[in-house]
Amino acid sequence: MGEIINVKAASSNVETFVSFQDIDQVLKQTILIKWQHIWDLELNNKLHFIQPSIAGFQPNNLNRRMSVKLARLRLGHTYFSHKHLLYADPAPSCSSCSTVISVRHILCECPKYRVLRRKYFGKAYPDLRDILGEPYNANVFSFVHDINSIHSI
Ligand SMILES: [Zn+2]
Repeated sequence: MGEIINVKAASSNVETFVSFQDIDQVLKQTILIKWQHIWDLELNNKLHFIQPSIAGFQPNNLNRRMSVKLARLRLGHTYFSHKHLLYADPAPSCSSCSTVISVRHILCECPKYRVLRRKYFGKAYPDLRDILGEPYNANVFSFVHDINSIHSI
């Protein structure tokens, strides 16, 4: 009987001790959960649409130049869609359908490129996540090259 009491006392001593690593791990986990919760509310954020998890994208095997182009496409901030800001011009409109030019418009929506999108993405109107999400569709660079915009990303 006395032996059981000693065991309980010993185990309660062990339970009151929490290592720094345990506290650190719990804090990091709590922060990640809160961060993900905040990110989950960013429904109008262009990047959130293709990157719903705060874990981010996996490293890719692209060279630096192409990796930057992929990041710009994912952010929706490219030279062809945002150069007007540098010159204080109005946002450019699509010559085909007069919609304001955006990465989404070019990669997913503009009827002008539906045949080319079917060739590279298998669909005339693909989902942006299927092209730029994880994993990204490597054909995106061929598509952008074929519409003569590879140097404008
Ligand atoms: Zn268009």
